[in-house]
Amino acid sequence: MNQTYFAKQALIGSVWQQDVKIHVVDGVIAMITPNQSSDGCMVLEGPVLPGMVNLHSHAFQRAMAGLAEVCLDPKDSFWSWRDLMYGLVAKLNPEQVGQIATYLYIEMLKAGYTQVAEFHYLHHQQSGQAYDNPAEMALQVRQAAVDVGIGQTLLPVLYSHSGFGGQAPNPGQARFIHDLDAYLRLQEQLGQNINALTHNQGLCFHSLRAVTKSQMETALTSLPQDWPVHIHIAEQMKEVNNCVAWSGQRPVEWLANEVGFDARWCLIHATHVNEQEVQTIAKSQAVVGLCPSTEANLGDGIFPITDLVAQGGRLGIGSDSHVCVSVAEELRLLEYGQRLRDQQRNRVYSGEQASVGDFIYQTSVSGGNAACNIKAGLHVGARADFITLDTSHPLLETAKPEQLINRWTFGINHNPVKDVFVAGEQVVSSGCHKLEAWAAGVLASSLKQLLG
Ligand SMILES: [Zn+2]
Repeated sequence: MNQTYFAKQALIGSVWQQDVKIHVVDGVIAMITPNQSSDGCMVLEGPVLPGMVNLHSHAFQRAMAGLAEVCLDPKDSFWSWRDLMYGLVAKLNPEQVGQIATYLYIEMLKAGYTQVAEFHYLHHQQSGQAYDNPAEMALQVRQAAVDVGIGQTLLPVLYSHSGFGGQAPNPGQARFIHDLDAYLRLQEQLGQNINALTHNQGLCFHSLRAVTKSQMETALTSLPQDWPVHIHIAEQMKEVNNCVAWSGQRPVEWLANEVGFDARWCLIHATHVNEQEVQTIAKSQAVVGLCPSTEANLGDGIFPITDLVAQGGRLGIGSDSHVCVSVAEELRLLEYGQRLRDQQRNRVYSGEQASVGDFIYQTSVSGGNAACNIKAGLHVGARADFITLDTSHPLLETAKPEQLINRWTFGINHNPVKDVFVAGEQVVSSGCHKLEAWAAGVLASSLKQLLG
């Protein structure tokens, strides 16, 4: 399928261009040229930006967003939240997981996310037995992405242990657990019959608590060498302290020394890192997967973004537990965390890009693409993923192009994303998705059943 679009203003790389023709062939941008006429083109209304990548999602957790904000103990923490989450996990069936993911992915598209990396660890029946089809759960979240039209990197999670050094899993983790052979079979099964333009896969370790060194080494050599590799790491100080007690090394330090990581890797959170670890991450070109709203919600801490960026490191954003499905809010919190820590303003930028909003948007698109092993956005050879903004709000209407992302991120209180295209296909029109009303009804009745 061929289609040529015309944008009055489009963000190409780091520069806003005028009167841009975007020629798309079979979902991929074949040509992109500024200073053209709109003759014969489909005219895009409003400024056009590359779609954002959501590099970290646990779709099912959307069902409990906002329900864990009641203090049950003065020492409430990540770990007491995790107990509540396990309570939800115990009840979910595959159909419900698919329904939650379907609605969530519509919310993501409407927010401006065109790709999601689904960090999928809810695999089995309540008893811990595999389903008759061991890929049942994973196929539900993949089908949700196919149905709503969002790009997806499916990351089936290897989760075998409850603590460092190969400790036996606890009962709340029964639905997550694989041995390595079963995990590799699941990966093989999921590789069949997928549309490679919009769907791919990656290798995923839940955390250093959940896998052993030899499992990691075998998985890394057994699966394709160009796949992305994701892992939760150093999210909580308890995890850092347990890692030091077990190995004498901090989590990122241990991973660098014992297994090694490079540009294929996405280190989710990496909240608690010292100067040496930041240097190691920057040098490796691994992407740091930051989830600012979830990290704030769970009381994780603040990752030293300023240090990573100063050393040329890479980052992207994810909505993780989905207490928030808003590109602008993730970007704003990402910057505000650094400001609150430093008691200064304008922290995350580069020598070439002094505008904070533009820098964090562009760097998150590019880090997200790397973390998903995709090429998407607004450049030749990229999957044609882009969004348009509704500029009817006076603050946006009067913004110069180079002020638009800052106005969106720091200045307005509503979501201005208007039209959304994935692989050249329009999936959101004037803020609406065609399956939204149906998916909302299905999810509401499912939540009534689930939560009572
Ligand atoms: Zn996570």
